[in-house]
Amino acid sequence: MVNPLNWFLGLFSLDIGIDLGTANTLVYVRGKGIVINEPSVVAIDQKKGGRIVAIGAEAKEMVGRTPAHIVAVRPLRDGVISDFDTTEQMLHYFIHKVHERLTLRIPRPRVVVGIPSGVTEVEKRAVYEACLSAGAREAYLIEEPMAAAIGAGLPVAESVGSMIVDIGGGTTEVAVISLGGIVVARSIRIAGDEMDEDIINYARTKYNLLIGERMAERCKIEIGSAYPLPEEKTFTLRGRNLVTGLPEAVEISSIEVREALSNSVNTIVETVREALDETPPELIADLMEHGIALAGGGALLAGLAERLSQETRMPFYVAEEPLTCVARGAGMVLEDFDRLSKTLAGTERGSTVH
Ligand code: ADP
Ligand code: MG
Repeated sequence: MVNPLNWFLGLFSLDIGIDLGTANTLVYVRGKGIVINEPSVVAIDQKKGGRIVAIGAEAKEMVGRTPAHIVAVRPLRDGVISDFDTTEQMLHYFIHKVHERLTLRIPRPRVVVGIPSGVTEVEKRAVYEACLSAGAREAYLIEEPMAAAIGAGLPVAESVGSMIVDIGGGTTEVAVISLGGIVVARSIRIAGDEMDEDIINYARTKYNLLIGERMAERCKIEIGSAYPLPEEKTFTLRGRNLVTGLPEAVEISSIEVREALSNSVNTIVETVREALDETPPELIADLMEHGIALAGGGALLAGLAERLSQETRMPFYVAEEPLTCVARGAGMVLEDFDRLSKTLAGTERGSTVH
């Protein structure tokens, strides 16, 4: 039964999809598109008992540039909510920011939040409560690979197999979906952050060069690859020589970076292969016909689709706007609720939501 009050409010309300990612948080508003896209980072003042001093882009800017007692944390770094309160406050902050920007609309939005598939019931409950306390009228949770698949335009509700590989900062999630449910799922903690780490380690062992995380990430984005490039490139790494202690710049080639990333990339390929091994043959036939979509920032790693296609003999492609798939997918569930509500996580009575 539709609650008449909710129905009435619904005429004015906002539908919001949130991607609570390990690296970035995005907020999608129906009719407006992505209105917030900020790092999932919170800056905390340890001197003042852990008081939050900044959230999002502002907090990320502070990393490495503030007194030592201010630390930047990524509360979802490994795909689990390591820090409950901080996650809640971050969610609060982003929902409120949307309110501020859209003040002419009646507030009290309906919210669908994408959560990493590994989170526990307790964590789900906490995210749900956080949405309500941040002013949501209704809140629903959806597993990120499901939201990513919807955002990538895959026919998740139909009796046809779809596969999504979502490579974020902290986790890579692989899911085979059919009839609104996840049939096969794999989640590993090897993704973009690990690739940055690979480059840091490579520079240290091969060149005695100590570089920071942001330098490593820039190098990965500019010249990183999973498959030989049509034209190999170079990038200048700047850091400190560990032997002399002096600043130093080293030119590194895309061939070296590919070598540095090879363990992480191999692990991702292996995980996809395992998921395919577990997929029932009828669904495999669907995947062969329609292809397998890559989403998340890691999908932008040059040559990843080629590499996966070559190793599995299945067709892979990068989804359109891979970084926004989860947020858009979460928002689309509200737009087409009757058809897509079966894709929500934990909708069974008593555990979460409603
Ligand atoms: P999450 O969903 O975990 O928040 P995202 O989907 O936002 O993660 O992806 C963030 C990751 O994608 C980061 O590790 C970032 O370095 C990586 N990334 C972004 N652009 C590229 C690119 N062009 N090539 C390789 N990796 C990229
Ligand atoms: Mg993500």
